[in-house]
Amino acid sequence: MAVKNIEHIGIAVKQLKESNLLFEKLLGVPPYKEESVASENVITSFFKTGETKIELLESSHADSAISKFIEKRGEGIHHIAFEVDDIITEMNRMEKEGFILLNKEPKKGADNKLVCFLHPKSTNGVLIELCQEIKN
Ligand code: ZN
Repeated sequence: MAVKNIEHIGIAVKQLKESNLLFEKLLGVPPYKEESVASENVITSFFKTGETKIELLESSHADSAISKFIEKRGEGIHHIAFEVDDIITEMNRMEKEGFILLNKEPKKGADNKLVCFLHPKSTNGVLIELCQEIKN
């Protein structure tokens, strides 16, 4: 097993509305959805750019991971998300390889996905998200 394509790149922003306009200008397409993820205290928007997506994330709570990230490092690239076919298998494989999983069980993320994050201290400082499409 291995990861597949880069599903999306997550970018932390201060003002989603303003950034939506900026990225619409940059990419030439408007966001195709906006979604609030209560468990993560974020509001997200998604742009489709070919096979990959751009996810913008604005904090909806002062204590959220996104507001802490922006406080420390400013706006910018927050995470890279890889698509996987079977998130449980990949989580087990990565844990055996010594990566630190930030959640032990897959959780429901934005855009109809099951997700798991890997701690950046085990991945050269890059927050990695694994995501698997939820099939209905
Ligand atoms: Zn993401």
